[in-house]
Amino acid sequence: MKVLKFGGTSVGSSKNINNVVSILNNYAQKDQVICVVSAVGGVTDKLLEAGYLAQTKNSDYTDKFETIKSIHLNLVKELIPEHNETVLETVTTKLNGLKSLLDGIYLINELSPKTSDKLVSYGELLSSYIIAETLKSRGANAERKNSQELITTNANFTKAEVNYPITNTNIQDYFKNSTFDITILPGFIASTATGEFTTLGRGGSDFTAAIVAAALEVEQLEIWTDVSGMFTANPKLVKQAMPIEKLSYQEAMELSHFGAKVLYPPTVQPVLSLQIPIHIKNTLEPEAVGTIISQDSTSATNTAKGITNISNVALLTLQGNGMVGIPGFSRRLFQTLAQEKINIILITQASSEHSICFGIDEKDAEVAKTAIDAEFENEISLNKIDPILVENDLSIIALIGDNMKSHQGISGKMFSALGKNNINIRAIAQGASEKNISAVIAQKDVKKALNILHEVFFEGNIKQLNVFITGVGNVGERLVEQIKQQRKYLKDNLKINLRVIGLSNSRKMLFNEDGLTLKNWKEQLNEDGIPATLEGFLETVKSLNLRNSIFVDVTANKDVADLYAQYLKHSIAVVACNKIACSSAFEKYKELKTLSYKYNAPYLFETNVGAGLPVIDTLNNLIASGDKVTSIQAVLSGSLNFVFNNFNDTTKFYDVVKQAAAEGYTEPDPRIDLSGVDVARKILILARESGTEMNLEDIENTPFLSEAGLKSDTVDDFYQTLIADEAHYQNLFASAKANKAQLKYVAEFNNGKAKVGLREIPEGHPFYNLKGKDNIVMFYTQRYPEQPMIIKGAGAGADVTASGLFADIIRIGNN
Ligand code: ADP
Ligand code: ASP
Ligand code: MG
Repeated sequence: MKVLKFGGTSVGSSKNINNVVSILNNYAQKDQVICVVSAVGGVTDKLLEAGYLAQTKNSDYTDKFETIKSIHLNLVKELIPEHNETVLETVTTKLNGLKSLLDGIYLINELSPKTSDKLVSYGELLSSYIIAETLKSRGANAERKNSQELITTNANFTKAEVNYPITNTNIQDYFKNSTFDITILPGFIASTATGEFTTLGRGGSDFTAAIVAAALEVEQLEIWTDVSGMFTANPKLVKQAMPIEKLSYQEAMELSHFGAKVLYPPTVQPVLSLQIPIHIKNTLEPEAVGTIISQDSTSATNTAKGITNISNVALLTLQGNGMVGIPGFSRRLFQTLAQEKINIILITQASSEHSICFGIDEKDAEVAKTAIDAEFENEISLNKIDPILVENDLSIIALIGDNMKSHQGISGKMFSALGKNNINIRAIAQGASEKNISAVIAQKDVKKALNILHEVFFEGNIKQLNVFITGVGNVGERLVEQIKQQRKYLKDNLKINLRVIGLSNSRKMLFNEDGLTLKNWKEQLNEDGIPATLEGFLETVKSLNLRNSIFVDVTANKDVADLYAQYLKHSIAVVACNKIACSSAFEKYKELKTLSYKYNAPYLFETNVGAGLPVIDTLNNLIASGDKVTSIQAVLSGSLNFVFNNFNDTTKFYDVVKQAAAEGYTEPDPRIDLSGVDVARKILILARESGTEMNLEDIENTPFLSEAGLKSDTVDDFYQTLIADEAHYQNLFASAKANKAQLKYVAEFNNGKAKVGLREIPEGHPFYNLKGKDNIVMFYTQRYPEQPMIIKGAGAGADVTASGLFADIIRIGNN
């Protein structure tokens, strides 16, 4: 004999019921089959909604009823297209009964737990009848037996307790004489000895099946549902979750008690002592292996088996000096809760005994507070204890596994992963059995926390990075392309799952929580993007609340830079090629560094100096390893290098600058480069990163531009001065030529002071042969006193800058 149970989704449509029918027919060829069914998916909720509307004198309950009616009549018509008159008639009669019940509730505006059980029983009564008739109409030797005649309970309506001796006898007696190949039983519903309708609690069809399986001591209980087993985490919240092949009864109980809805918690109890395995299978994918729950779970390699969550939890804290050392507080507290029939999900007590903290369902919080404050009224009035403290909008997450106890460091790993991602933990409980470590966190952090823990415990160290890019102009575009091209490589070789979640230019922004495919991303941004604002972008990044979020600033915009602090405060890393933040007032730079440290959110800006060259990283490594910088000599402007490498007595200064601008080597306003401000910013950043407190004004800047060029008001005016002052620039060249020197724009940092300016570089100097748009940086340090550490290479250009940004992103991934 086999016992199978099919849940709401499995019987939620005629298509799915057809799947069920074919599974049953297959089984029935080998063995006698008992099949427990739920109400059609969503019907129990709809019945309760209709009941609530009727009770509150809202006549819309009739609409709900009509929906329920058409769901069932349609199923009959689709499943039994011919000769369905009797079935339709019986279903209609049942529905009329339901309608009368609802009318009655409306009339007296009262919905007691007893009536509620009667009301919801229609769901399973209807589904079981229709499924049995479908089987019969197709020639199966099938029958429906009403479980209310088999399962006897007490009168604890909505969650009745089973009387096993009577129930077991009923079931055994009935099936002893049954000759049907397939018997359909409605799940969830039962009755008292006096025939009142009861139910076994929401989700209770699983339990019905377990009761029957145990009474008949069958070999195996199969729970057929809409997922391929019990997963490492709720697959609706964690995309990477995977089915767990084997679980022990204890693990399954812990997982279901702590929120894995796929199995109703009491289900394990009847089959446990008989050691009947439970097999969870997917009706929509019958060939999938599913999960086996049994005494033995040893094959698993993972110590942690799953992560679960319970939402809508309230945390209550009873505290006060009067509690210390005085026995009986806990007993009174929990007795009070028991009297109110309030279920406690989690308890923690600090060893000081100064406070007891426990988690309950949020909907019970009011009642609990009133009852506890009343119980301790006397102590509260004497200031021995405080009125009970209630915190809402919380959730419990739990890490579960039998073998966690024999492995050290699991809870450390769990809490450090949460801490690193700035998830605040309100309370912790670890059962003495160490099969379960639970933490109470804010409801808004649940999805993020589950995904972080899943990554750490189940994903073979693949780390997900969630990137949000603002500014997809020249450099930004290359960055997106590089990410698109390298994604697979990163996953395979560096175990980094790099996802672009958001993109924005100055007009549009586009998001996809599951990661943008990046195919035709430009068109998509234009067509599907919503109007962009900097605050809107920030708010979306914050509200998505994804782990390892990285904001990438590929603009040169001050307003964007002004928002870095907000990103960092929400533990969102910032990667910027925008130099403004790092070269603004020292306090601002310092603040960002502090926030980055405090919120564990990297702030990286390698591309601020030398584009993709690893200048800042190298400097940071020197300093981190205890070295001290004494001097920095550098050529840091790709654009100025381009200009002075191409300017001579056969070219015109104006033409060369124009060409540099056209090739994208200068800032949109070339004065920023030619005035030396850009280079000053760069040496400022290097000085600061070397540990010197310095501002832009402290840098000595000797300009080489003509008087008129320096004073020009607009970019156009500036270009005009280049033409007018050609002689001034030719003089600079002639002087250098006479001295057999090359013109280079040099930045220097010596003993805490910095300066920038145009220099005549003699032959033999490392800067002399610097070509094209190359940069060079020479670090003189305590360890490199005479021969400097030199970094040299292309210091401008979209591709190299993009690759510098890319490297910063990967640095975060490797961290
Ligand atoms: P049924 O109607 O078949 O009884 P349920 O809705 O009660 O199905 O349970 C299945 C659902 O449980 C899944 O669709 C899934 O959303 C949810 N669920 C939550 N946690 C888990 C988990 N750890 N593994 C599998 N499913 C889970
Ligand atoms: N139909 C009931 C419910 O929705 C029982 C079940 O599906 O297990 O809770
Ligand atoms: Mg269920």
